[in-house]
Amino acid sequence: MAAFNTEKKPAAREAVREKRRIVVKIGSSSLQHAQTGDLDYIRLEKLVRELCDIRNQGKDVILVTSGAIAAGRKAVGIREITGESPERQMAVKQACAAVGQARLMMIYQKLFAEYNQVAAQILMTKNTIVDDLNRFNAHNTFSQLLEMGVIPIVNENDTVATYEIEIGDNDTLSAIVAALVDADLLVLLSDIDGLYTDDPRQNPDAAFIPQVDELTEELLAMGKGSTGSNVGTGGMNTKLQAARIATGSGVDMVIANSKDIGILHRILDGREEGTLFVSHREEGFDLPGFVNRLHRQ
Ligand code: GLU
Repeated sequence: MAAFNTEKKPAAREAVREKRRIVVKIGSSSLQHAQTGDLDYIRLEKLVRELCDIRNQGKDVILVTSGAIAAGRKAVGIREITGESPERQMAVKQACAAVGQARLMMIYQKLFAEYNQVAAQILMTKNTIVDDLNRFNAHNTFSQLLEMGVIPIVNENDTVATYEIEIGDNDTLSAIVAALVDADLLVLLSDIDGLYTDDPRQNPDAAFIPQVDELTEELLAMGKGSTGSNVGTGGMNTKLQAARIATGSGVDMVIANSKDIGILHRILDGREEGTLFVSHREEGFDLPGFVNRLHRQ
């Protein structure tokens, strides 16, 4: 029997209504206007309102946001990161991230303050998970913030992350965060409706998959070579990798289209939106081991 089908299964969706600890990831392409690369304030505003409303329902909320490098490039007037050498390119990227992360947080803080919601910033690298003491500290910080009713806003620490210590994309980062904090649900908001049997932009016969019960090799192979949009770093491959981490550590995951941010409360209301990956907690799922092997597989 195939591990996925195109039928809807209300039971698993019904269970989504009970989820208490929610991680939401939003990608760069969802945060900026495609035509100009400037931030989409309306969408940001709607996102923040949705998150505050979920928080008001008594649920724990964590936001994983991309967009630092894109915002920084915009601020210093660089269209693309090109340069004479890889080292120089890395330095430019890190400088853009330093400028952009602060700008991004300034906007988030302003928007969250409008709803009287306290927000915090957490920046991570691979070392945050691989190193036992770092992981322990990060876990404690998240737990404490959530206990205080704060919404942590997470990104990779792009200003210091080089190849050796980078997680590399925020799909993977959000799944790692979900696993670290024992979340119940991870929602990846992106510029696609969810998982299809093939690339719907190229194959009109591609069928939408509303639910995945088991992540098979066949399915993981489907995402290979997919790069998605040209902003951000996540395509379908990184989303399936995220699904592997999330479901393996016992977290359900939904991929959904961010073009209407209201999709977030419809998902949490158990409605059939996006693709739901049903979790299967693997006995002894080794998060640091998994993160340590990233980019080496
Ligand atoms: N951390 C990067 C940024 O904030 C984005 C990574 C991603 O989009 O996956 O710009």
